[in-house]
Amino acid sequence: MNVDLHCHSTASDGLLAPKDVVARAAANGVEVLCLTDHDDTSGLAEARAEAQARGLRFVDGVEISVTWHGTTVHIVGLRIDPGSERLRAGLESIRQGRGTRAERIADGLAAAGVPDSLAGAKRFAENPELISRAHFARYLVEAGRAPDVKSVFQRYLVKDTPGHVSHQWAALGDAVAWIRESGGTAVVAHPGRYKLTKTEMRELLADFKGAGGAGIEVVTGSHTPDQYLEYARLAREFGFLASRGSDYHGKGESHADLGTLPPLPQGLKPVWNDW
Ligand code: AMP
Ligand code: MN
Ligand code: MN
Ligand code: MN
Repeated sequence: MNVDLHCHSTASDGLLAPKDVVARAAANGVEVLCLTDHDDTSGLAEARAEAQARGLRFVDGVEISVTWHGTTVHIVGLRIDPGSERLRAGLESIRQGRGTRAERIADGLAAAGVPDSLAGAKRFAENPELISRAHFARYLVEAGRAPDVKSVFQRYLVKDTPGHVSHQWAALGDAVAWIRESGGTAVVAHPGRYKLTKTEMRELLADFKGAGGAGIEVVTGSHTPDQYLEYARLAREFGFLASRGSDYHGKGESHADLGTLPPLPQGLKPVWNDW
């Protein structure tokens, strides 16, 4: 089955409106789609309506920004209830943190000779409550600071560059609790992307499981085929459900298009098995 359980719309830092994400997924043959905007659920209603009109199965989701022992980790919530009060309040507090973080990013860029980047980033953010580094990146490309989003990140937005600020996101246990309380399933997003040693990765997965986490992404646009196998092994070892998602953000800003990833490796329990 063509299942894609991780993607973004203009409700966070994707380039397509929620209904256009669904249209693209449908065109690519996706049968079950989950929209997982960063720290925000405001795109879900539009996406769900479009999916219903097109006869595509739609699942409510979110990708929550977490800080675990100083490392930023993303936790995807699948089949959440966006109306859940604790989830709503938790996401709102993360978005407020994004607002102050954006001011600090702009201060750092200004000190390096790049003025007015907050106003610039905001022009690229269709949801004024959700400012991501991706919006800064798009503005910096427009301003001619680097040829594309990828190189802008390397020069301006990652560690040891002018626009980098350290930020405290939600606690791992809180994010998992919000997802579970809303009826959802918590999944570690793109585990292969974190700069953790093998020992630290096992610690993260053990903490996540202890907090009530249920799955990990095995096949994602962020993983190499070798990493599909590596995380398949870890899923089996920890008894995690396995998820698959492109993490599509839009043309030119994604490793994988909607619905184009290979199936899960053998011997895994798909997170969508009993849906
Ligand atoms: P934030 O959550 O505000 O820190 O922004 C993170 C987002 O920036 C990710 O979800 C991606 O959309 C984007 N991003 C992060 N690193 C890169 C990169 N190296 N190249 C392109 N986009 C990136
Ligand atoms: Mn993003
Ligand atoms: Mn992510
Ligand atoms: Mn994502």
